Amino acid sequence: MGNVWQGEIKNEAKDGSYYWVDTTIIPFLHAKGKPYKYIAIQYNITTRKKYEEVIESMAYTDPLTQLPNRNQFTKWVESQPKKTNEIVTALFLNLDRFKAINDNYGYDAGDAILKTAANRLKGCLRETDFVSRQGGDEFIIILKNNDDEQSIREIASAILKRIGMPYVFDHKQLFTTTSIGISKDYIPSEEDSYDNFLKSLIKNANTAMYHSKRQGGNQYCFNNDHQNMVLERNYQLDLEIKEALLRNEFTVVYQPIVNLKNNRIVGAEALLRWNNRKLGLVPPNEFIPILEENGLIVPVGKWILATVCSQMKFWQEERILMQRICVNVSPIQFKDRNFIQDLKEILNETMLDASYLEIEITEGTILDIKTSSQTINDLKNLGVKVSIDNFGTGYSSLSYLKQLPIDTLKIDKSFIDDLDRDGEIIANTIISMGKNLNFRVIAEGIESEDQLDYLKKQKCHEGQGYYFSKPMDNSQITELFTQL
Ligand code: C2E
Ligand code: MG
Repeated sequence: MGNVWQGEIKNEAKDGSYYWVDTTIIPFLHAKGKPYKYIAIQYNITTRKKYEEVIESMAYTDPLTQLPNRNQFTKWVESQPKKTNEIVTALFLNLDRFKAINDNYGYDAGDAILKTAANRLKGCLRETDFVSRQGGDEFIIILKNNDDEQSIREIASAILKRIGMPYVFDHKQLFTTTSIGISKDYIPSEEDSYDNFLKSLIKNANTAMYHSKRQGGNQYCFNNDHQNMVLERNYQLDLEIKEALLRNEFTVVYQPIVNLKNNRIVGAEALLRWNNRKLGLVPPNEFIPILEENGLIVPVGKWILATVCSQMKFWQEERILMQRICVNVSPIQFKDRNFIQDLKEILNETMLDASYLEIEITEGTILDIKTSSQTINDLKNLGVKVSIDNFGTGYSSLSYLKQLPIDTLKIDKSFIDDLDRDGEIIANTIISMGKNLNFRVIAEGIESEDQLDYLKKQKCHEGQGYYFSKPMDNSQITELFTQL
């Protein structure tokens, strides 16, 4: 007996269909070693093969949209010829407000939209383009046609237009749009880095997609170095800020608030500072959004409240007279379900009389009036004061605020800046209407004597700004108050 051959063979039947056989061929040999006959043993394995094909296609195809899934995408990437000096473009797509569709109309509606969107995407692409669903409402498209910027823009515009067309589900018209991030580059010359090349191409397209989202969605955006730098910086900040509380890198500074009638300091606003071992002093406008994104604003915000309340109690024991201390509270901390309970405990532990504490929230925080009015009422019941910060930059109107038991309005610095450039009308309106509604009105960011004179003429109650003092650390402000 000679060498046995074994394998699977695909045969065509007379009717044109095909069938599979598992075949073993055994050669019988002469004494000299030449085969004189073969025996073939065959099993029909068509059914098994069909199952295997289904399983294979399930592993590589997204069952909902029938698009290649992430596995197939990886396989496809590995199979690509590595031609250099050719431009490859990645488009990263994410549908806008897709979660709202699922939440409001149910998952069936969401699925129907995904299916239609996938078909529409296919309709915008050429044979050589590759589109895959990466999961959720995310799609990646790879263009390998050496496309120039103009043709990429045309494809992206066509996608935006088609995805933005109405979808019909259950006799209702639903709408969604998409945000697209685009990254294009030459295939590098070293063969083995093709995977990494595509990975970074997609990562950059993803960054650009976030940029499109942040600018309101329903648009495409090319990746550029600036976005990469912002992303890298945010990554560093996120990494470092996670240890900041443990490393005692946070401090609180205090900016005096002045009564404009008699120029006396009535209180101070507490402002958070972060001095990191690697990055140095990072401005709050940069790190507060990071704390909000990673959720750490809740424990850090608690720490600020505890620090400020015990500082205020210390001042009172030292007979330093400050009428109020104001603390900024982020919308995320404000909406945290333990916020009121945590604050109660802090007030108990520090033994600070709640009436000395004022919480500053922004207009955005109170947009959802139902939940916010509950928390504001809870604060008032504790005896804590509430002020609306950066007033005039958000969406709330004064009449809207009338429904809430608010104590203070802080006019945003931008209106005070504009006082020198005939922007009095807005500031005047806020001051006079605020006073009519019995709010205390504070002007923020006063920098010049002219601004101060004007605000005094308008009988604005209080002011804050570099004209009086920059924020100071607690020993400086203690000294300032001791001299009063
Ligand atoms: P904000 O609450 O509107 O605070 C006022 C900001 O204006 C402070 O900036 C303050 O230093 C600055 N400022 C005050 N007077 C003047 C002036 O005359 N000229 C100029 N150019 N600026 C003035 P800061 O400390 O950088 O804080 C920025 C923002 O970060 C704050 O705006 C607040 O929204 C947020 N923030 C600061 N500390 C905290 C905190 O403890 N918790 C929360 N959630 N947010 C905070
Ligand atoms: Mg503030």
